[in-house]
Amino acid sequence: MTKEFRLRYAPSPTGHLHIGGARTALFNYLYAKRNGGKFIVRIEDTDQLRNVENADQRQMENLKWLGVEWDEGTDIGGPYAPYRQMDRLDIYRGYIDQLLAEGKAYYCYATKEELDAEREEQLAKGETPKIAEKHRHVTPEEREQYEKEGRQPSIHFLVPDDRTYVVNDMIRGEVTFESKEMGDFVICRPDGIPTYNFAVVIDDYLMKISHVVRGEEHLSNTPRQLMIYEAFGWEAPQFAHLALILNQEGKKMSKRDESILQFIEQYRDLGFLPEAIVNFLVLLGWSPGGEEEIFSMNEIIERFSFDRVSKSPAVFDTAKMNWMNNHYLKSKPVELITELCLPHLQKAGFIEEELSADRYEWVKQVVALYQEQMSYCAQIVPLAALFFLDEVVYDEEAKGVMLEEQVPAVLSSLKQHIEDAPEYTVDTIKTILKDVQKATGFKGKALFMPIRVATTGQIHGRDLDKTLYLLGRDKVLDRLNRVLTKS
Ligand code: GLU
Repeated sequence: MTKEFRLRYAPSPTGHLHIGGARTALFNYLYAKRNGGKFIVRIEDTDQLRNVENADQRQMENLKWLGVEWDEGTDIGGPYAPYRQMDRLDIYRGYIDQLLAEGKAYYCYATKEELDAEREEQLAKGETPKIAEKHRHVTPEEREQYEKEGRQPSIHFLVPDDRTYVVNDMIRGEVTFESKEMGDFVICRPDGIPTYNFAVVIDDYLMKISHVVRGEEHLSNTPRQLMIYEAFGWEAPQFAHLALILNQEGKKMSKRDESILQFIEQYRDLGFLPEAIVNFLVLLGWSPGGEEEIFSMNEIIERFSFDRVSKSPAVFDTAKMNWMNNHYLKSKPVELITELCLPHLQKAGFIEEELSADRYEWVKQVVALYQEQMSYCAQIVPLAALFFLDEVVYDEEAKGVMLEEQVPAVLSSLKQHIEDAPEYTVDTIKTILKDVQKATGFKGKALFMPIRVATTGQIHGRDLDKTLYLLGRDKVLDRLNRVLTKS
């Protein structure tokens, strides 16, 4: 029987869902689905000092929003529950005891300060920092003495001497590590809670994880995890370590860098579409081969493989993300885009919380005017402000246009024609514009620029007739009057 593909995303609940975490989750999900397997979300919360309340729920909520859905997890359970490490402490204890009994792990009574000081000393001498031999062998008398002093031991894994560990990575090929470069490491803290490197192995084994796909920052942990698999006589899963994601300056993205949005929630709040983010994320490392770049989740699932995942870092290109989202926004029904724009318009104070049917219809038409142009829905606010504000805000170029000499003639003719027109529709506006041309003798830019600038404050914009229509008769007349009384 071939082994079932079982992949997991194992976030530590230390903050929001980051671009890098979302990519890791996505690649695990894609590979599981590509191979008819299962995708699992496991919460790795044993580093309690770093845990942030509700971070796991929010991460999962954002994953769901992206369409990365799991088959087993803390919320839905599954055959290997519980899926939260702090609910699995009893399970780990048994395995730790086994290693202690077999002499593959030992109690270490040195304090963190003592170990740190020893480490500093070794580093100063140019040695590879390693735990001193003396901590490995504590006599019963010493132990009694330590316990009298109130010391709480941590449990260390005894790293085998002179061994080579080979990580057979699906992206990087064979990566070798020498055990002599590695010191014994903590598998259980003094408070009885295991560390990541230990718990991850127990869980991946018990949950029958077939492939571990995670960020490159974990590659150096992998030999330690291999040692634990070996200590229990278990077969290790296949590994794939995804290359870093760099910012446009070519530096590793830092979560503290506020100049670039890094959390899925931020994109969601700005009115990005999940399809666009998924499509963008998968291209951070995976290449489909060929020119095509737009793929739905199902299309990606059909094609995804690690052969086409790069071991070189990916660059996070904001302009591309915007381009991608614009592509998806354009293809959506205007009703959906309107729903995504409404909160932004409300927040800007442009529209009320409750909209009448007429007002909604009007907002929808304003949104439709900009749907092609927006990279994300929050942009509706600056783009469409001219429809909501009373005063027109002129930019510098626009001011220049208003000084041209034909302006008063064109605008007063337009005003007259609008006032005389029986109706105010896109069609009548088209006719009015032709009539103004005939009446004034101005055409092209000389005709349209003053009208556009007087009514919108801008020299560029969407279709003039639609813009004038959506601004409404009163607003247009008001804006024309303001300019005409000034000139
Ligand atoms: N809890 C680890 C993290 O958030 C996951 C490591 C792994 O996938 O093994 O980075």
